[in-house]
Amino acid sequence: MLPKTEKHLHIMGTQISYYFVCKTKLWFFSHHIKMEQESELVSLGKQLHKETYERDKRDKTIDNLISIDFIRKGDVLEIHEVKKSKKMEDAHEFQLLYYLYYLKKEKGIENAVGVIDYPKIKKKKIIKLEPSMELEIEEVVKSITSIVEGELPKPVKIPICRKCAYYELCWV
Ligand code: SF4
Repeated sequence: MLPKTEKHLHIMGTQISYYFVCKTKLWFFSHHIKMEQESELVSLGKQLHKETYERDKRDKTIDNLISIDFIRKGDVLEIHEVKKSKKMEDAHEFQLLYYLYYLKKEKGIENAVGVIDYPKIKKKKIIKLEPSMELEIEEVVKSITSIVEGELPKPVKIPICRKCAYYELCWV
């Protein structure tokens, strides 16, 4: 049993990803304006995951904050995320780094690596939580908290807007 820390992490993996994609999207999502089910892109991603990883279909949700696509147990615990393309690689990487950080800080699990699977291009990327990254993760968590507690950030048009579930809220 881990000693109780004074403050527990409360940020969701999705929020970490949205922080790197768009701060407006992060704010909408964090204020429970959830329209992702309407996004064609998201449903395509879910379909891809279903078709490619049916045999591994064991989605794990931890503390309602972390949603892991699947886990493989071995000498090292592998935390897998399945992604459609490398377009948002930074967001995907940081999301997995946060998962590893969360498992370490909240569950005492250190012997783990992240794996991003790109089935469409038959590639994978291994993500390790180096001690030097922990400070950066803590800064991102602080920054997310401050964005969520603040006013809606002004939208900035970016290429993914046209496929974003929140398009109408920003641009129509
Ligand atoms: S439409 Fe564009 S600016 Fe608006 S939330 Fe989506 S990505 Fe962000």
